[in-house]
Amino acid sequence: MTPSLLIIYTGGTIGMVKDPHTGALQPYPFEDIYKLMPVLRNFDYALHSVSFAPLIDSSNVTPGFWVKLATVIEENYEKYDGFVVLHGTDTMAYSASMLSFMLENLSKPVIFTGSQLPMGVIRTDGRDNFINAIEIAAARNGDKPMVPEVAIYFENKLMRGNRTSKYNAENFNAFLSGNYPPLAEVGVRIRYHSALILKTHNRKLSVHKKLDNSVLILKLFPGIASIVVKNALNIPGLKGVILETYGAGNAPTDDWFIDALREAIQKGIIIYNVTQCKGGAVDMGKYETSIILNRIGVIGGFDITTESAIAKMMFLLGQGYKNDKVKKLLQVSMRGELTV
Ligand code: ASP
Repeated sequence: MTPSLLIIYTGGTIGMVKDPHTGALQPYPFEDIYKLMPVLRNFDYALHSVSFAPLIDSSNVTPGFWVKLATVIEENYEKYDGFVVLHGTDTMAYSASMLSFMLENLSKPVIFTGSQLPMGVIRTDGRDNFINAIEIAAARNGDKPMVPEVAIYFENKLMRGNRTSKYNAENFNAFLSGNYPPLAEVGVRIRYHSALILKTHNRKLSVHKKLDNSVLILKLFPGIASIVVKNALNIPGLKGVILETYGAGNAPTDDWFIDALREAIQKGIIIYNVTQCKGGAVDMGKYETSIILNRIGVIGGFDITTESAIAKMMFLLGQGYKNDKVKKLLQVSMRGELTV
């Protein structure tokens, strides 16, 4: 049976061409993609597409955008074998993380890709990224999809979406998955690392659309002022904080700092400890500077990325769970986003 894929074009550099008069980048009408990439006609797959209106630079992604994207997938889920999401690179790691949580029981590929150079530029990386993302979304192992999860394909690598960060604004190799190996590597052949890929199951897709953005990322730095921390933790309505700590989850031990965190936790704010490092994990208790965080009730995020942590927090708070349940779920792997 010919695989059928839905290409969801949301915006970003990949779909842009240079205006010959002004030199400015502008979105290219996706209906004309075959003019830009006639090679797409050679695929043996049924390719259909939808374009978001307006197309957005991914810096403008909002929870509303994620709901729209999840809804498009939900409404087309039975009709297609897989989905390719063309998305700006700037916030792709956040969107891929969020979609992984919103799409519970996903058993079809949702492959995000984009590019550093617009499709309308001769040297574009978009063409390869797009073609390989299509190949991967269509790939099957018998009657099952090879990659039944939300992933990012970029520059020869397929990565679990909720494990990625954008770490380079210049190189074609723009994404990093510091704590999880690639799901597939692309060379002459596409090598799938099946043991690392989530398994399919027969449960029904359940799409969660309630998100709560009463959250904050607080990145520590030497010299951070007490007034900044105290005011941040006293924002009215704040429910969850991603605390970006040093190394294996370490933070200052100054009384003012610990007291501010303790007071916030006592008020019901959930504080989630993630590391500023791009590889490795939070290990609360390894150093004295983190034992105290443990003691006052900060929740350790193991090796989760900041992008995935903030998405997971918005997702869990949106479900309306009691704090205890949110805290428990923050410490387990729901979609392969962390290693306990
Ligand atoms: N600013 C663009 C975006 O994220 C960059 C890109 O697409 O790579 O939409």
